[in-house]
Amino acid sequence: MKKIINVTRSSMPTYKEYCKEIKELWKTHWLTNMGVKHEHFQKELKKFCKVPHIALYTNGHLALENIITAMNLKKDGEIITTPFTFVSTTHAIVRTGFKPVFCDINDKDYTIDVTKIEKLITKKTVAIVPVHVYGNICNIEAINKIAKKYKLKVIYDAAHTFGETYKGISPANFGDASIFSFHATKVFNTIEGGAICFSDNKLVQILNDMKDFGFRDAENVAYIGGNAKMNEFQAAMGICNLKTIKQEIQKRKKVYEHYKKRLQNTKGIKFCKKQKNVKYNYSYLPIMFDNYKYTRDEIFEKLKSQNIMARKYFYPLTSNFECYKNLPTIKKYKTPVAKYISERILTLPLYADLSIKDVDRICDIILK
Ligand SMILES: *Cc1c(COP(=O)(O)O)cnc(C)c1O
Repeated sequence: MKKIINVTRSSMPTYKEYCKEIKELWKTHWLTNMGVKHEHFQKELKKFCKVPHIALYTNGHLALENIITAMNLKKDGEIITTPFTFVSTTHAIVRTGFKPVFCDINDKDYTIDVTKIEKLITKKTVAIVPVHVYGNICNIEAINKIAKKYKLKVIYDAAHTFGETYKGISPANFGDASIFSFHATKVFNTIEGGAICFSDNKLVQILNDMKDFGFRDAENVAYIGGNAKMNEFQAAMGICNLKTIKQEIQKRKKVYEHYKKRLQNTKGIKFCKKQKNVKYNYSYLPIMFDNYKYTRDEIFEKLKSQNIMARKYFYPLTSNFECYKNLPTIKKYKTPVAKYISERILTLPLYADLSIKDVDRICDIILK
């Protein structure tokens, strides 16, 4: 049986290097609650992203939930977002008490279609949560303009963008806040982990409270917070992986370009349109089968039979998941472009150490 190739494979430091990083924890016995590794990692990340503030989290999802809550938006408000994303984006909106309003995506880079946002704004709209899907940066200029005009908050789900720049700036700096995910399957990982990046000084205390039960000090709980802190082992993994992120991205780029060379001139196979001002992290390799000789599902099954695990990211749309699809408030939003793309898209294996030989094998199967 052929070896299994998964859609991704977590980047890791050497065993020795990680052990060196965590060694002092055996002296301090301080394993979580904002210890030395947490402090160190936070400082390094701030430098890396050139962003005023970063709050570290145990995962990206709780980071998103917490920042939505921290914005102090009007209760029961509507939040404009897209359904072509990982389900976390929609869940975070609903779980914090807001109503998702689904805007369609554009067919070039699959981010929110900015020409369709204004039509969806009502008296109840409080925020926009756009997704930089596959590392494609949303039209931030247009979104800013709309947000300003209607006094809406903008929180970017930037989970796919770590290590990128747009016009030389890290996506950590866009909107009122942005979240990253450092999950094991992402370009940069802290095993599990996440972060909120923001510039408003007032949010520092609120977010610190929210992720640590609301504790200001041992006898003062100022806020009804939960628990979403990043622990020392996660932070140590982050410190190690941050040292090699640039090389990892370079390696991914090579893999990406080989796929592109092999597949881009095939009729019926479509790559995402590359954005001009973006330095990519090559986090995903989505290709669309649009009038190709085989359907997306046929290709998916064929690859699977050869132990190659591609993923149908993002299918179904979040609005079509069991828990959402029959809600009358969600049913009424039509997103035909997102639907069309989600039925044809396939995300192929892509990671730093994927060999060119394996890429060739995958491409051969697709082309034959
Ligand atoms: C991974 C991901 C998240 C959630 O991050 P976790 O760290 O897994 O909690 C949120 N949004 C998007 C778009 C993601 O891909």
